[in-house]
Amino acid sequence: MPIKFYNTLTREKEIFEPLDPKEVRFYSCGPTVYNYPHIGNYRAYLFADTLKRVLEYNNYNVKHIMNITDIDDKTIRDSQKNNQSLKEFTEFYTEEFFKDIKLLNIIPPFKFTKATDYINEMVKITETLLEKEIAYKSGDGSIYFNIKKFKEYGKLSHIVLEDQKENASGRIKADEYDKDNAQDFALWKAWDESDGEVFWETTIGKGRPGWHIECSAMSMANLGEQLDIHTGGVDNMFPHHENEIAQSECATGKSFSKYWMHNEWLLVDNKKMAKSAGNFYTLRDLIDKGIDPVAYRFWLLMAHYRSKANFVWEALEGAETALKRLYRLYEELGADIGQVDKESKDKFNEYISDDLDTPKALTVLWDVVKNENISKADKKATLLDFDRALGLGFENIKKEEIPENILGLAKEREQAREEKDFKKSDELRASIKELGYEIKDEGDSYRISKI
Ligand SMILES: [Zn+2]
Repeated sequence: MPIKFYNTLTREKEIFEPLDPKEVRFYSCGPTVYNYPHIGNYRAYLFADTLKRVLEYNNYNVKHIMNITDIDDKTIRDSQKNNQSLKEFTEFYTEEFFKDIKLLNIIPPFKFTKATDYINEMVKITETLLEKEIAYKSGDGSIYFNIKKFKEYGKLSHIVLEDQKENASGRIKADEYDKDNAQDFALWKAWDESDGEVFWETTIGKGRPGWHIECSAMSMANLGEQLDIHTGGVDNMFPHHENEIAQSECATGKSFSKYWMHNEWLLVDNKKMAKSAGNFYTLRDLIDKGIDPVAYRFWLLMAHYRSKANFVWEALEGAETALKRLYRLYEELGADIGQVDKESKDKFNEYISDDLDTPKALTVLWDVVKNENISKADKKATLLDFDRALGLGFENIKKEEIPENILGLAKEREQAREEKDFKKSDELRASIKELGYEIKDEGDSYRISKI
């Protein structure tokens, strides 16, 4: 089945054709490890994971690289605040990130690349750009990319250079800047006192890389000069991805990534997430509320990745209830695994292969669950097959732990039923319910679940 993706570069849905049919070269912008990622960041990583799963579902061999930004303004600033070395500080948050992605059923990429392991590659690209006179050294020793030298600058984000205001100083030092001020960007930042112990002595001077060059260096070092797919959040499109294109294409003379794919914003209560607005959540906030992180994944799958998703707690709780129901229905299918229902699979794949239309794909999943013409064993095989793309974790559903006192009451109730004391049996059912559990009779046995 041909796969179609919306390519940000052309603003069109295109049939996916990798440069090399044997291997899809796929790069995703990963986290900056200076804090716990927020749930909006995880939308980007879950999107990349779904994309990879869909490619693999369609039998592509995918080489996926995701970076760990362990050197930038924020990591330096906050490691100093914490009186920790950059390494110690960033390693802590890297480990926390790894724990989170496991909880979200994100399949680790082929390789996680740490920016600090690729300083040489960054220096080499910068040297090439200096030789080509596309980059220049400023008075303090920092090296900037002259965007006027790249005629195609703006082709991804459709930013028009003439519309941009010149920055008063002509260039901006920080990694984070407002797009109205975006002009030449730093490839290399000369050391100054505020960097403390963080610097590298290199052929282009003493300092550290700019943020954008990190992704160009890590992707090209692992995937070659040309990639098939590059993903990130829509917030990365400008300036980050625009700059990646500029420096990579100017250095190699080749087009950098064939397809660019971006997931939309995650809003919270219809607002942009911000610590100052009090609507900033990490995965820990979900876990603290007793919500399974996979419910967040499930909730996101209900929206198309290119539409804004509005996070409200009620919606997430609703998704969790639906997910638990799905798990229960799956468990009721028994132990036998039959054949994948072909008709359902074709429909499912048609949707997910149409620019990852997961909301429609989920309707096929529910249809399978409800379809009385498909045997239990075949349903099970079909759901497991779909889950390769969805990542809901049917294969390792966590069994609900039922507390001892509830099990005791349920046994007493069973006894009352055997003695045909239905009054007592009903009372016990009510007591169980008061404690937050539901008892459901199934022939000779019964099932207890959390309400
Ligand atoms: Zn990046």
